[in-house]
Amino acid sequence: MELEGFITNTIIEPFRIRSVEPIRFTTMEERKIKLKEAGYNPFLLKARDVLIDLLTDSGTGAMSSAQWSGMIASDESYAGSESYYKFESAVQDITGFKHVIPTHQGRAAENILFTTIAKQGDVIPNNTHFDTTRAHVEHNGAEALDLVIEEGKQPQKIHPFKGNMDTEKLEQTIAERGAENIPAIMLTATNNSGGGQPVSMRNIRDVSKIARKHGIPFFLDACRFAENCWFIKTREAGYENKSPIEIARRMFKYADGCTMSAKKDGMSNIGGFLALNDDELAKKCRSLTILTEGFPTYGGMAGYDMEAVAIGLYEALDEGYLRYRIRSTAYLGEKLQFAGISIVQPTGGHAVYIDAKSMLPHIPSLEYPAWSLTNALYLIGGIRAVEIGSVMFGLQPDGTEKPAAMELVRLAIPRRVYTQSHVDYLAEAVIHTYRQRNQLRGYKIVSEPTVLRHFSAQLEPI
Ligand SMILES: *Cc1c(COP(=O)(O)O)cnc(C)c1O
Repeated sequence: MELEGFITNTIIEPFRIRSVEPIRFTTMEERKIKLKEAGYNPFLLKARDVLIDLLTDSGTGAMSSAQWSGMIASDESYAGSESYYKFESAVQDITGFKHVIPTHQGRAAENILFTTIAKQGDVIPNNTHFDTTRAHVEHNGAEALDLVIEEGKQPQKIHPFKGNMDTEKLEQTIAERGAENIPAIMLTATNNSGGGQPVSMRNIRDVSKIARKHGIPFFLDACRFAENCWFIKTREAGYENKSPIEIARRMFKYADGCTMSAKKDGMSNIGGFLALNDDELAKKCRSLTILTEGFPTYGGMAGYDMEAVAIGLYEALDEGYLRYRIRSTAYLGEKLQFAGISIVQPTGGHAVYIDAKSMLPHIPSLEYPAWSLTNALYLIGGIRAVEIGSVMFGLQPDGTEKPAAMELVRLAIPRRVYTQSHVDYLAEAVIHTYRQRNQLRGYKIVSEPTVLRHFSAQLEPI
């Protein structure tokens, strides 16, 4: 008898679990007290009081046995450690960039790059600047200009590459501002602030062509490069049969350098780098690295961190891992949509974004509907999510308040941490909250700092 092969629709977690970390159950009564003590601000909760923590996918992933064994075998020499050379060769192998400057995380690479290249009156175009990127561009007196395509600004619009840059607007910006005032063009792949939406290879190539035509350096914000490669493989013609690492190498070939947070697709808890080809620029950046991060062969990382990143970068490009990663995010999105909840579509790489404005039309923007939903998810399910709405973006530099364009609740999925039953539980809790949406009330702020208020503001239910 011939046995038939087996093709399953179930995409299983591509790992088994050998070390476990307990999560702590609390009652709703306990959570009511904890939330009140935290000033109704989930950022101020203790992690031990959270059952499923979706605050961020940054540095919250689980490391592999290979990464842990690399860490034990690390070289902690101050200068020229073996772990640095392993790290450098992994980054060079994947990105092709000549100079690799380690940093303690992504924003440190941004600090070094923009302090070196940007000045008052300059403009940096990007699809959408991530908040730390924007902060570093502006801190150096330059303007951070977002040029994402129109589709990328509409939550319900289906488009395979909503992270693409509008190349006509880019040409127009160069014509108006002058290439000499544009020290770099950037593309964020995937576009985190735009919902984790990918950028196509074609768009990367087109932006690269424009940059080269005008002699402007082109940098990738590569924090989620591996997830972007998976979207190219599955959505862009011509890449079906290419491996993620082949796609990554081609992607980086179009650029002159990149900034990277290893807390995302470096699969590590800390770390990052700046990588680039230009010898002169690299020299300047290394000098600043010594000043702010450390000697250029560790740059703010321990030897064992560099080991973890060197191994993690390849693990992030593993096909089985990427299939599972992108599928598990889509799986949560589908469950919510099936129940009638509106989310940003299509689901991106690292998170599901719930559209709280459409779920809670009875709560005005300046009574913070997405904040209200975030708190309800904690009370009902012990889930910690993050508001991306008017608490985060509403406070203007002049002290006035303006509603944000969207009121979103982001459920960010840590890498390799939660199983399908955790995701099923999550979906159940969100749907249970959705069914009681008419009971949800708005919030008011009772105290707030003057900048980045969402991290430490105290609120009260109305
Ligand atoms: C996380 C992130 C950064 C900043 O990295 P940190 O390690 O948090 O400093 C920059 N850009 C993007 C797109 C990111 O996702």
